[in-house]
Amino acid sequence: MPAHMKELSVRTSQREEMIDITHLVRDFAKEAGITDGICHVFVPHTTCGILINENADPDVTRDILDALRVLAPATANYRHVEGNSPAHIKSSLVGCSKTLMLANGRLCLGTWQGIFLCEFDGPRHRKVWLQVVG
Ligand code: ZN
Repeated sequence: MPAHMKELSVRTSQREEMIDITHLVRDFAKEAGITDGICHVFVPHTTCGILINENADPDVTRDILDALRVLAPATANYRHVEGNSPAHIKSSLVGCSKTLMLANGRLCLGTWQGIFLCEFDGPRHRKVWLQVVG
């Protein structure tokens, strides 16, 4: 891996879940040694995503997953033979990356915000690529 980059390995345990990875991103930003810049968070997968939202009340992530299930129901007239079209659609809606500001060595997040790896087709091993640019 080039300098200021890191690959996280995250094991998901359910078909669909949102895993708070804020502390892992925060730790990496600290160890990268760059105090002011941006931190990029990216998942190289087509059936998971990266989302920033509330990490205080776990019902928020449950509601988000429920709402995504309404947008991309388990069964519909999908063409993709793998049978995981809902996961591909949810990944497309959520997106596979986020860019955060880094100031004075700290990740800039709101009080209630956390960074989540969203699993839509688990359980699997997922990679998260991080890069800090100063
Ligand atoms: Zn597929």
